[in-house]
Amino acid sequence: MKTNAAGEKVFYADYTWKELDTLDRSKAVLILPSGSVEEHGPHLTLASDSAAAEAVTAEAAAKVPGCLVMPCLWYTPSVDTSNYTGTVSISSNTFTSYVCDILLSLYRHGFRKLVIANVHGGAKTALDVAVREFHARMGTASKAYADDFFIHLHNVYVPAIAYLGEMTEGKDWGHACEIETSLDIYMDSDRVKLDETPEEYIPWREGLEWYIGDMRAVNENGIHGDATKASVEKGEKAFKALVDGLVEILEAVRKFNVPPSSR
Ligand SMILES: [Zn+2]
Repeated sequence: MKTNAAGEKVFYADYTWKELDTLDRSKAVLILPSGSVEEHGPHLTLASDSAAAEAVTAEAAAKVPGCLVMPCLWYTPSVDTSNYTGTVSISSNTFTSYVCDILLSLYRHGFRKLVIANVHGGAKTALDVAVREFHARMGTASKAYADDFFIHLHNVYVPAIAYLGEMTEGKDWGHACEIETSLDIYMDSDRVKLDETPEEYIPWREGLEWYIGDMRAVNENGIHGDATKASVEKGEKAFKALVDGLVEILEAVRKFNVPPSSR
């Protein structure tokens, strides 16, 4: 069972209900990892995002006292990669409602701080909507918003974008690419087909760096980047950068005093 330096259990699901019942839940910082069940090229498994979400959150939580990692959201929206065999995509309405129910359960049990640690680009917008929807649902006839549940949506790659970009030798990175392949090699090289790493890019339209559509129609392998340039050294550096970015957020949320409800 994974514990932090103070001997506290790191995983939420490793606690019994009585242990959680006696915990100071208003001070605990919950972490909800968000990944995907999604194609990651011919060389990485469908677990790539969820495995990264689980590993990064576990490592970061062990470094900050009072953090509990929830079971990962594996099934999330993956619209643009839906036509690759294996991807499981949840519609935004279903997903938003599902995440809201999780937040509601935690709120009812007295948890007041939560960090969503998302590694999957396809879930970013729906998670943002889910948090807003939760606050809206908690409103009363005279007052909107559950201001006594502090929820922070942390997109794990965002603080490290410049650093990872500098590390990249290929033309670009973004999906099952040099960075994600390096991370997977570092975390568990058995999950990587090292002799099948491709280089391929989503063909952006001139001046339009945004793509939502059937990725399979324009990209044979289901990747955006040069996976041939991946290495365990890059994976270790990338992993540490993602963990450091999350630790910074966890420290800030830990220090934050959540006000009593004003509703
Ligand atoms: Zn990914």
